[in-house]
Amino acid sequence: MTPDEIVRADRAHVWRPYTPHDVHAREGSLVVVGASGARLHTADGRRLLDGNSSWWVAALGHGHPRLVARLAAQARTLDHAPLAGATHENAALLAEELCAIAPPGLTRVFYTDNGSGAIEVAIKACIQGQAQRGQPRRTRFVALDGAFHGDTLGAAALGGVEVFRRPFAGILFDCVRAASPDERGFARAFASIEEILEREGDTIAGVFVEPVVQGAAGMRVYDPSLLVGLRRACDRAGAWLVFDEVFTGYGRTGPMWASEHAGVTADLVCVGKVFSSIVPMAATLVTDEVYRAFGGGRAEALYYGHTFCGNPIGAALAREVLAIYREEDVLGRARGSAAVLGARFAEMAAIPGVARARSLGMIGALDLADDAGYTGDLGWRVYAEGLARGAYLRPLGDTVYLCPPLVIERAELDELLAIFEASVRAALGAPR
Ligand SMILES: *Cc1c(COP(=O)(O)O)cnc(C)c1O
Repeated sequence: MTPDEIVRADRAHVWRPYTPHDVHAREGSLVVVGASGARLHTADGRRLLDGNSSWWVAALGHGHPRLVARLAAQARTLDHAPLAGATHENAALLAEELCAIAPPGLTRVFYTDNGSGAIEVAIKACIQGQAQRGQPRRTRFVALDGAFHGDTLGAAALGGVEVFRRPFAGILFDCVRAASPDERGFARAFASIEEILEREGDTIAGVFVEPVVQGAAGMRVYDPSLLVGLRRACDRAGAWLVFDEVFTGYGRTGPMWASEHAGVTADLVCVGKVFSSIVPMAATLVTDEVYRAFGGGRAEALYYGHTFCGNPIGAALAREVLAIYREEDVLGRARGSAAVLGARFAEMAAIPGVARARSLGMIGALDLADDAGYTGDLGWRVYAEGLARGAYLRPLGDTVYLCPPLVIERAELDELLAIFEASVRAALGAPR
């Protein structure tokens, strides 16, 4: 099979995610044939630096020998088993290990197979759980403008990225969206959530937020102390607080959980992506209080589950990921890299044409336009410049960013930063 044959089959029969047809028809030259560490290997023999950890997943890099070995070993021992009426070692011990390192108070784990599924569980747990603890009027949700919680219908109802919502606006459930936050306006947005909770809090089942960083909105970072006020407001109103740590968890922002920046625990926490790293799996962690709301009798169980939820291979890998974090000091080693990345993004704020620069942990982002929407073209120019220079830099509209593997070697990080800056300068016509 030659690269051309792969591209031909792809163009003829694959329906690409998030991809306009004209774009699909034009592009497609990037055929990935392998990956290792922080690099993607392409069919034309290049070794591209993976600037976004392959859609925010490969925090441990590609082809980590321990993950590869665990995958093979687990496939030989127990390939699949149901989690209804049965259990197995990895699902049981993973839940125990997760609760041990989760923010205090989270004691139960519900497994799903992707991040959107983990959000759906949280949505259903809020509605059914609130009703079963005597609060049936709580049927609504609150989320932030610009929020991204996944693409299934429930998750899309919470989402605030306009182009993703628009076609379905007529059938999405009621979600109160807090006033549009931007780099300066998050305090206003959180104040408006608190007002909503004050005014009509007895109709709210849950409040969903991505703690400290809104990823898909364009890596928008806000002051963690806003979460402290939100926690208090949720407690006063009796609404459950849900943290979507699918992107921010596992050290992306520095500590294991982004909520640690604020010292706040949510009632439900969704994890995914790095969680199982090389196979699809996700989980929703909940407090005793949430779990107890489902203990009232047979009709009060959570009748929900996916075929592959808690599957042995995913659970084994998720345990291996945790073991690697513990034994290879992943967070400690990433701190040095994060400082390098942060300093460089602060400098890049001065490039003519850059509207804003920011960084947190192993995330750095630049807005290339004042209103950096999804449909702009500047980000894609940086993408093309990046490919020509040896890096994969998929943008979020006119926001360009890096979130490389946490374990990226220092020399490769320097190379990636140099390519990123050169690509931005080239796209903006701002030579050094
Ligand atoms: C990716 C993501 C999701 C959805 O996860 P999928 O596995 O793609 O369904 C939800 N929330 C956040 C914050 C994400 O980054």
